[in-house]
Amino acid sequence: MWLPNAPRRVRINEVSVRDGFQIEPEFIPTEQKIALIDRLSETGLARIEITSFVSPKAIPNLRDAQAVAKSIRRHPGVVYTALVPNARGCERALECDMDEINLVMSASETHNLANMRMTCEQSLEQFRSVMQLARSGDLAVSGCVATAFGCPFEGEIAPEQVKWAASRYLELGMDSITLADTTGMADPRQVSELVEAFLGWFPGVPLTLHFHNTRGMGLANVLAGLAAGVNSFDASLGGLGGCPCAGRDREHLHGRSCAHAGGVRHRHRCRLGPAAWRGARAASAGRTRHFRAGGQGRQEHRPPSRAGLGRREINAHQPAETQGETPS
Ligand SMILES: [Zn+2]
Repeated sequence: MWLPNAPRRVRINEVSVRDGFQIEPEFIPTEQKIALIDRLSETGLARIEITSFVSPKAIPNLRDAQAVAKSIRRHPGVVYTALVPNARGCERALECDMDEINLVMSASETHNLANMRMTCEQSLEQFRSVMQLARSGDLAVSGCVATAFGCPFEGEIAPEQVKWAASRYLELGMDSITLADTTGMADPRQVSELVEAFLGWFPGVPLTLHFHNTRGMGLANVLAGLAAGVNSFDASLGGLGGCPCAGRDREHLHGRSCAHAGGVRHRHRCRLGPAAWRGARAASAGRTRHFRAGGQGRQEHRPPSRAGLGRREINAHQPAETQGETPS
């Protein structure tokens, strides 16, 4: 049988309403967000990340988080989740009767500093108080390890760093783990190896994979995850979304050398010859920011440099008082 370890049933977790809408140049009207979530709820998705309970100063596009959460039609069988940066966000999630919250920290210290404006230990300290609140309200908590497959600043991320981050999450009592390829650096071989290691370190811990399609590897990485036995994947309608502090910012700031370096790394990891690699690159010339869910919706073919500049500006202009509130 092909893919003998692949699960018989797969859960798709939709993230476009949070991950995508947060970096759109225009505010998406609240009624439109609600209407989209209500329609997504009818499609058989396992989970929908509907918003982020962050400071409106950090993410003005999601300033209507409570209105959205309180107005959607909850579909039985769908888990409604939201990203939460700190205890205040968790209180708001509890007020809105969310089913689950997501917490994010990078495996890379440098990326966590750039993205969250705090060290990993500071993030974990915040999560400790979030966990106390979540437990008092019987709220499920998922911990996301960002940059699990590579960092735009530090490059390769050792599997031990991912193990360390996931261990700390589980010590805090989190219910499940997501490994996120925040910068679109993962390749199928790496996915296969890291998932195998993860399942050995943490048997029985629910695992979700979150890929970006920056280099056209999104679907190949999903296939590698399936082959390794993973049954839960994030996806984004229309390929919307991306980290405000992700790899292509780096490509923009440092020109082609960084993009090329990433390509060489991928080619060697995938054991492709130069000609085969050029073919694979050409086949994936239309870059998208996320793995697209089923091809519905609008397709994003934004030039990397312009998209990167926009996200870098978002991050650079973030007010100091919103430390820790920039989402991944
Ligand atoms: Zn993402």
